[in-house]
Amino acid sequence: MSKSAVLMKRNPSFGGCPSCKELNTLKKSHSRNTKEKIVNGIGVYHTYRCTKCGWRGYLTSVALTLHSIKKLLIYLSILVITVFLTYQILQRIF
Ligand SMILES: [Zn+2]
Repeated sequence: MSKSAVLMKRNPSFGGCPSCKELNTLKKSHSRNTKEKIVNGIGVYHTYRCTKCGWRGYLTSVALTLHSIKKLLIYLSILVITVFLTYQILQRIF
């Protein structure tokens, strides 16, 4: 993982099943319909299936940490300040 990344990637396969709480039983599942293809195509959520209890659903591969939330707030602050300054400059020109 990069230290400069705002969103941390994680692999839900190493976590526990949301239904039976068993570890290392989740496998990526193929898309069954158009909705699942779209959700999987976005890349934040993927379809997983538990090999023990049969649970099937969406899990995210992106994790937010306190460090990443701080970075996100800093980037949003910079964006707001930049938009405000640009607006002020454009108002004086036109
Ligand atoms: Zn399970």
